[in-house]
Amino acid sequence: MSKKKNRPHGHYCKICGEYKANEKFSGKGHAAHICKACSRLSAAEKAAAMDTNRLMNFPMRRLSESEKKWLKAKMKDECPEVAETAREVFNACFPHAERNAMKKQLVINTLSFEVHTEVYDGYGDMEMADRRFTIDRKSRVLTMTDFQAEGEGQSVTLEGGQMAKLLRYIVHTLEIFMWEQDYCLNPDEEDYDPFLEGEEGFFMEDLEDRLEIQPPKEPEGSPSWRVQVEYTNHTEQDMCSYNDYLSDRPEELYLSLLEYFEPEEEEF
Ligand SMILES: [Zn+2]
Repeated sequence: MSKKKNRPHGHYCKICGEYKANEKFSGKGHAAHICKACSRLSAAEKAAAMDTNRLMNFPMRRLSESEKKWLKAKMKDECPEVAETAREVFNACFPHAERNAMKKQLVINTLSFEVHTEVYDGYGDMEMADRRFTIDRKSRVLTMTDFQAEGEGQSVTLEGGQMAKLLRYIVHTLEIFMWEQDYCLNPDEEDYDPFLEGEEGFFMEDLEDRLEIQPPKEPEGSPSWRVQVEYTNHTEQDMCSYNDYLSDRPEELYLSLLEYFEPEEEEF
């Protein structure tokens, strides 16, 4: 990364992280590596800009102890934008290596996914979803029950390759095995936490921090969505959410399963 041949022209500003023409720097700013625009920022704004810049370029690999420490501190930064960016980076890359190791071991045997909330229909409109999908790896049968249509059930049998692709997508792309942590579901259940050992309590501390900020919600009524997965290594997962919306990956799963039952879309 430090090779100079790809370095853009101009002078580097350590605050905004941009290479700018020499005239964008004052004499003093040149030596300090701070451009004229950034020199007008307050000290707090300068710090936030530098942090954001570092976060945006954070390495997507297993983190060193000092990187973890810094990232963890930034998740509590007094600047809300910095704290939010740090949390996004944390979620994206903290157990990156561990997640990848998990993916290699996990093959879904059966899956049940229920949705009882409003969902984007893919065309920008909200529609009430009240459906259950099931997937069975061995029989390659995918079912959908629409509770709005008096529990009418449909099923399709996928080809072997298609089923394997779908199950791989759910583990490798949607990372369904991490949804408890990613979406803070079932936070009081400690029986499914594959990463605690190797991380010297770092993750547990973080989990505790989150619990302080977000006490487990008292379930009101029935869950908006629920996922039950059984893997070939006999691990089981059962999680539900009482938020009144679908998070991004559950929504992606919903929309991709729904596609198997959309008769007019022929391009698949
Ligand atoms: Zn600058």
